[in-house]
Amino acid sequence: MFTEIMIDEPLEKIVDDWDFFDDRVLKHYSTFKATGDNVLGLRRRSISSAGLNDPRKGNISHHLELGPDGLVEWSHSPLAVHVTTAGTPHTVSHNFGYWHINDKDELYMPIPERVPGEMGYFVVVMGNPTGDETDAFAWYCEKCLTLLHDFVYETGRLGFNGFWKAEARAVRSYNADAANRKCPECGHQNPMGYCWNSAKDTPEEAAARKLW
Ligand SMILES: [Zn+2]
Repeated sequence: MFTEIMIDEPLEKIVDDWDFFDDRVLKHYSTFKATGDNVLGLRRRSISSAGLNDPRKGNISHHLELGPDGLVEWSHSPLAVHVTTAGTPHTVSHNFGYWHINDKDELYMPIPERVPGEMGYFVVVMGNPTGDETDAFAWYCEKCLTLLHDFVYETGRLGFNGFWKAEARAVRSYNADAANRKCPECGHQNPMGYCWNSAKDTPEEAAARKLW
């Protein structure tokens, strides 16, 4: 796969780190880490043949996408690769309270646990945006899918390292005014947004996380 690998530490210091799923290594990818052309995320999740629809916090519940055929739900299952193609709004209920729209494909692979009874691994890989490519955080009416609000982060120009700050700004801007959440088409008052990291939730955002 590689003809040349450059490292800046003595080999004996890092040789044991080539196990990506070792807890010491995994923690570096627990959010997202941009390395070269890729952005990689590794999460511990309950993954078994019973499926991934465990509603407990932190597990994959409803993965929704907005495509040419309207609203589609994808059910993750062990070792089934799924790609959310560039430009497709997607959200995962109770995990992040906005629709993420990136200009790169996003690939997911749930890997079962290595030791029975332990959690498995959820691998997320996406391209690292360059040039004019962006990440957008959007909200659609939950009743009629009218676009209510969006916030664009110029990832290609500003760098992926600013992604989480942009996410927090996006959520704050949407939640700041209840008028943002009232649908201009059907009048429905939509719930607040919330960030991926539940530790950042205000009490109102924590309540919204339980709703969608
Ligand atoms: Zn509506």
